[in-house]
Amino acid sequence: MLSKIIAQTNIDHFNKWFQRADTIVIVSHVSPDGDALGSSLALAHFLESQEKTVNVIMPNAFPEFLRWMPGSKDILIYEKYKEYADELIANADVICCLDFNAVKRLDTMSDAVANSPARKVMIDHHLYPEDFCRIVISHPEISSTSELVFRLICRLGYYDDISYECAQCIYTGMMTDTGGFTYNSNSSEIYYIISQLLSKGIDKDDIYRRVFNTYSECRLRLMGHVLTNMKVYSDYNTALISLTTKEQSEYQYVKGDSEGFVNIPLSIKKVCFSCFLREDTEKAMIKISLRSVGTFPCNKLAAEFFNGGGHLNASGGEFYGTMDEAVKVFEEALEKFKPLLLAD
Ligand code: 5GP
Ligand code: MN
Repeated sequence: MLSKIIAQTNIDHFNKWFQRADTIVIVSHVSPDGDALGSSLALAHFLESQEKTVNVIMPNAFPEFLRWMPGSKDILIYEKYKEYADELIANADVICCLDFNAVKRLDTMSDAVANSPARKVMIDHHLYPEDFCRIVISHPEISSTSELVFRLICRLGYYDDISYECAQCIYTGMMTDTGGFTYNSNSSEIYYIISQLLSKGIDKDDIYRRVFNTYSECRLRLMGHVLTNMKVYSDYNTALISLTTKEQSEYQYVKGDSEGFVNIPLSIKKVCFSCFLREDTEKAMIKISLRSVGTFPCNKLAAEFFNGGGHLNASGGEFYGTMDEAVKVFEEALEKFKPLLLAD
């Protein structure tokens, strides 16, 4: 049995909306990851099984290694089909906001969702949810939004209606947001849920291979390059990796190729904090990814130095300036956070 984590009032409220709604739009954050897609597609599969008209809309493209996910071909990319998506968003009965806590995480799609008269529900696991949804199912103690979607469907009484495809999507989100169950994954209920998903027929070993072991040769060589240039700050238990646009073109970089790089330095003994700086040509900025093991608060450093945020152990932000300047700011941040870096 699972504990009843989602408040009964939220379940009842969602149930009322869901019974009445005909057209439902599901949205998730910019640069959707496995949990954004997994939770959105899982909810879409479930709602479609209940005869609802569902549209999943993402702000921009998602990585190649998630294209196998059932339903992913029907996802509408906002950047590409803005007018049609605007219409769907404006006319939806309900908009489900999955795996993000602030409307600005929708990037160019923010205004369309914020201004839509549709009823909005947030299902998310990031800290500090902002106030833009009437129903807020926000559980930072849960390691993935996909797990929350599973819990929601079960609490509504529809476990039997979870299809094989829906189960595949839930598992993918749970797996990717815990690094293949290597962090944020000590809750025994996670494994109870996995056993239920297995009983729906999913092949978890195959899903792992599809997500983590279907990279291009270029990506692997790029990884080698990035690691060769890694900077280790031994006195701070920290490592830094970076990727300029010049390096990206040398290795025929395609979107998603550096996915997961930020975690690699954490495999060095004593390194408990890792930073990845990537120049983003489209947005003319440097994207920051931060990861930690233990108690080091990546989100605090991201908020204070890089206009960002996120979870304790996984955060991100942005920097407007050159790579050298970004490294300098990062080193200032390290100095300030040194006591916390040496605490573990
Ligand atoms: P990633 O490093 O995978 O891009 O992001 C890890 C986590 O950091 C995300 O799940 C999200 O919670 C948070 N995050 C990433 N980028 C940003 C950002 O620019 N602003 C905020 N507030 N959070 C971010
Ligand atoms: Mn997530």
